[in-house]
Amino acid sequence: MSQYDYDLFVIGGGSGGVRSARVAGSLGKKVAIAEEYRFGGTCVIRGCVPKKLFVYASQYHEHFEDAAGYGWTVGESTFDWPSLIAAKDKEIDRLEGLYRKGLENAGVEIIESRAELTGPNSVRLLKSGKEVTAERIVVAVGGAPNPHAALPGYEHCISSNEAFHLEKLPRSILIAGGGYIAVEFANIFHGLGVQTTLIYRGAEILSRFDQDMRRGLHEAMEAKGITILCHDHIQKVEKSAAGSLDVETMNNGRIVVEQVMLALGRDPNTTGLGLEAAGVETNERGAIVVDKYSRTNVPSIFALGDVTDRVQLTPVAIHEAMCFIETEYKNNPTSPDHDLIATAVFSQPEIGTVGLSEEAAAKKFEEVEVYRAQFRPMKATLSGRAEKMIMKLIVNAADRKVVGAHILGHDAGEMAQLLGITLKAGCTKDHFDRTMAVHPTAAEELVTMYNPSYRIRNGERV
Ligand code: NDP
Repeated sequence: MSQYDYDLFVIGGGSGGVRSARVAGSLGKKVAIAEEYRFGGTCVIRGCVPKKLFVYASQYHEHFEDAAGYGWTVGESTFDWPSLIAAKDKEIDRLEGLYRKGLENAGVEIIESRAELTGPNSVRLLKSGKEVTAERIVVAVGGAPNPHAALPGYEHCISSNEAFHLEKLPRSILIAGGGYIAVEFANIFHGLGVQTTLIYRGAEILSRFDQDMRRGLHEAMEAKGITILCHDHIQKVEKSAAGSLDVETMNNGRIVVEQVMLALGRDPNTTGLGLEAAGVETNERGAIVVDKYSRTNVPSIFALGDVTDRVQLTPVAIHEAMCFIETEYKNNPTSPDHDLIATAVFSQPEIGTVGLSEEAAAKKFEEVEVYRAQFRPMKATLSGRAEKMIMKLIVNAADRKVVGAHILGHDAGEMAQLLGITLKAGCTKDHFDRTMAVHPTAAEELVTMYNPSYRIRNGERV
């Protein structure tokens, strides 16, 4: 008989927490999981899933316009925000139900309460005040939008959390940030008919991506009618008597909008979690420090997902959870593999990417071959839409390995998933060349770029 109440206690019912609890439960362990809000975490409740539903909603007006080129006459269309919110909420409720069911089926005890650490093997449940013990504890409490509290008037601004529940669609919005969330929401709001401005402190949006993707997306967004202000930031936000927001910017004067959204990164949710009581170490960003097996400096406590600030992506948290299970419950020490993570930005057009950008590859390798194609996708011919796709393969000339693949255009995210497999398998450019094209597709371009567009030798384009 164990000296603890549980074999495993998981704090946080998001992607990483639910996966570790569910799989440990199905292995016969005595498991409990505590969640203070809703099961599914950021991804399901106020992140990836509702965001993608919003992306679909925001694309319809272009679909209606494009239909004319294919002989369709679409009658007058209108958009109703409350209907979208209600449909989205219904779907999120369904998914949350599935998450709960998965836990129940695995015999996991579900605790609807905030839980805080009180020691290396103990947790206090805030709702009941009860303290419980566990042999192992997993902290998977995720992150939250950085509120940017130093900004005068930040309290008038929303984050992505509120964007999913706005009572009414604003007529105009200013979005601060140049990362995933800012770019995705700028396209969503614009697509739904909101006058949209994005303000970003750097020279070009999406700072960690390939230059071609960044520039190509910037141009496409501006062509649609989104205003992008680079090299600028918000200095102050004031609410007028009429309810509009008066925004003072550093370089673009005063901007008056109905809504301001801050998308300036996400912080680990570690405040008040009892980490000090348990002796768990955090870094300067408040993230829990873990070793290569997701173990904290306290041997019985582990941390997974966004709270560790390694790579803030749902599939990464799930992978880290599976590695924890392998290591701790299957006697098979497995550390998460964070190399070559394929990712997509659900902007319009999308970006799908895996591996090194041209700039990063040029720094790492002596000689790099860049294969680049830019073309008008077939669908745009009859629709008449002015849009382009960009595809790029980055190849290390020394061993011909494809070290980066980048796509801007429709279904780029879907393609990135498959490219992720090829790069992970270590495919060379010759493997791409030997692969038969699927015709007619946009993706065939990836296997028909036979000659390099240019080379970069010792950092210089030749
Ligand atoms: P990102 O890290 O992607 O972007 C943050 C942005 O805020 C950057 O442009 C950054 O600028 C800017 N910024 C940060 N601090 C300041 C500041 N003090 N003043 C002005 N600008 C600032 O974070 P997001 O919030 O967009 O998203 C959080 C995470 O969620 C992402 O890292 C991603 O991993 C994940 N996510 C993934 C999605 C997907 O897979 N499709 C979708 C949404 C989120 P700079 O670049 O100059 O540092």
